[in-house]
Amino acid sequence: MWLPCGCTSKTIVTSYARRVFKSYFRVFGRWKCNVAALMPEAVGFEGVKDCSSLQEFSVSNSASFWAAAARHRLSWIKPFHTVQDCDLSLGRIKWFEGGQLNVSVNCLDRHVHTCPERVALIWERDEPGSEIKVTYRQLLEMTCRLGNLLRRHGVKKGDCVTIYMPPCPLAVASMLACARIGAAHNVVFAGFSAEALAERIRDAQSSTVITVNQGVRAGKVTELKRTVDAAVKDCPSVQQVLVAMRTENPVTMTAKDMDMEEEMLKEDVVCEPEAMDSEDVLFLLYTSGSTGKPKGVVHTQAGYLLYAALTHRYVFSYEDGDVFGCVADIGWITGHSYSVYGPLANGGTTVLFESTPIYPDPGRYWEMVQRLKINQFYGAPTAIRLLLKYGDQWVQKYDRSTLKTLGSVGEPINTEAWEWYHRVVGDGRCPVVDTWWQTETGGICITPRPSDPGAEIVPGMAMRPFFGIKPVLMDTEGKVVTSNPASGALCLAQPWPGMARTIHNNHQRFIETYCQPHPGYFFTGDGAYRSKEGYYQITGRLDDVINVSGHRIGTAEIEDVVNQCSAVAESAVIGYSHDIKGQGVYAFVVLKKDVDDKEADLSQQLNNMVSKKIAKYACADFIQFVQRLPKTRSGKIMRRVLRKVVERDLDGLGDLSTLDDPAAVQEIIQGHRELC
Ligand code: ATP
Ligand code: MG
Repeated sequence: MWLPCGCTSKTIVTSYARRVFKSYFRVFGRWKCNVAALMPEAVGFEGVKDCSSLQEFSVSNSASFWAAAARHRLSWIKPFHTVQDCDLSLGRIKWFEGGQLNVSVNCLDRHVHTCPERVALIWERDEPGSEIKVTYRQLLEMTCRLGNLLRRHGVKKGDCVTIYMPPCPLAVASMLACARIGAAHNVVFAGFSAEALAERIRDAQSSTVITVNQGVRAGKVTELKRTVDAAVKDCPSVQQVLVAMRTENPVTMTAKDMDMEEEMLKEDVVCEPEAMDSEDVLFLLYTSGSTGKPKGVVHTQAGYLLYAALTHRYVFSYEDGDVFGCVADIGWITGHSYSVYGPLANGGTTVLFESTPIYPDPGRYWEMVQRLKINQFYGAPTAIRLLLKYGDQWVQKYDRSTLKTLGSVGEPINTEAWEWYHRVVGDGRCPVVDTWWQTETGGICITPRPSDPGAEIVPGMAMRPFFGIKPVLMDTEGKVVTSNPASGALCLAQPWPGMARTIHNNHQRFIETYCQPHPGYFFTGDGAYRSKEGYYQITGRLDDVINVSGHRIGTAEIEDVVNQCSAVAESAVIGYSHDIKGQGVYAFVVLKKDVDDKEADLSQQLNNMVSKKIAKYACADFIQFVQRLPKTRSGKIMRRVLRKVVERDLDGLGDLSTLDDPAAVQEIIQGHRELC
């Protein structure tokens, strides 16, 4: 069969961190520092000589910068007449008005004209060595057939299609087919329950759902179509379900279902792209729900695509011919921006990773790097911490000489994990870019790259704002802190094209969450520290800053120390209300495999470390050893759940639909009862 799918055919850099990282080191960039090499569209910008002057220009001449980037990077059907029309205090964000384009044309057609046989996607299927490559020509063909199929079944501009699929070429083609015909997509992570899926389908009011018969992950088969059947029962809007075959196992079809691949074969390979206004919706995507009920974040066409493309190119120093390996699932924003839109807009080759970091063994990522000759690897701290536990031998077995840049995203990366990633995975020669951003920001906002050659990267710091980004820190009274070093609430002082426009069906929530806390600024909800050199470090969510006996401290800072103990795999520290101290410190600790130290001795040892490296007041009042931590399905620790357990507010656990393994919560509740 012609279709590849299924192939059935904080740490705050206090004096503490400074002591730990006495040796700042320099990573020399590969760019020549002339403006044309730096960024072709920057030629002619007044006063721009290097990266830092370009950054300054991009912020103080935002309209000129973004206009030049948009003209240079994107292909337009009709040019825009207004670069930006934004008022953050009102939640009004509009870029490139008057302009029309088609995102799928930008990601496919223009590359098919120049290099049709270039590999667009490498589908790294669950079984190592069974990867499938899809060229730009093939991907355009799939996208067009699918676009025609959707159109034939009544999907039109402005509709929203829900995609419930693991990473695979047909999932990417589905996203691009929606973009081609002007429908929005709503990709739902294919590990979510029927209930969570139904909630998202209902919120999006989708008439069409696209799925696969079964998923395959870590050698296990999951019944995705069955989950869709259960979800769709509670979704009256759904008229049709397109089912692709990932495995050869037959699937029960209902009246609403159609065999997607069979139907696609009947369609034409040419599909007229819809001319989309810059501000038409491209997709909605629900956040990972770490802090509460997931929000249906809305991104639009031109600004999002431009920002994804530019960050992909410059943060990772992506060059033509490189193989980009982002291992995030397409169900998260990282998968959207850096497995799909950024790399494809740049005509790149991108990996779609279907498996897990430890299948069939903990060498999986690095064996894949060797086999696919990956040049940039982008993953999450949770996976790095997990792999570190298994030891260096799993990495060293494989040739990683193709690697040029290593990226981290999703959570603060603790020092031990950062250093291991740099020293062992990157052999000490690849820059590690700790990239800070959110579903709402559309793309990376604070990151070590791009930077002038020779600019330093401090372990565990996100470092510098990307072009066009102006971060500020707010103090507790809502005033901008101008001095350095400083800590505060991280806000972004001016709009950028990649930012979210609204929350689906709830613009008021968008305004209240992001625009009202500090009028005129985009409020991120995260805390940050800025060093005396002006480098940023994300200290975690603002909810995760605690106040112990009058000392404000980020829980990430305590975790960083705890994680440095050789017996500890990972930890989560939270504050709880304490009669005397205001807040006390409660630590949940997961030990590495095969650790047989006594827990009581270890508790003492951990508190000694915290006392020595931070202060006595930061020592944990309680240390609970647990088998695992409750995590979202994107791998983030759900601290709000831990907080509720410790506060004994089990009725207030909140929305658990995005929790990976509910049994982890039960274990923690049980352990907490025994400890306290
Ligand atoms: P919700 O908004 O529903 O609670 P979420 O915030 O986990 O979910 P995402 O948009 O996927 O959903 O995650 C963005 C958040 O992840 C950031 O606000 C930040 O807290 C954290 N984060 C992302 N990258 C980094 C990083 N490099 N360093 C520290 N934290 C990071
Ligand atoms: Mg968030």
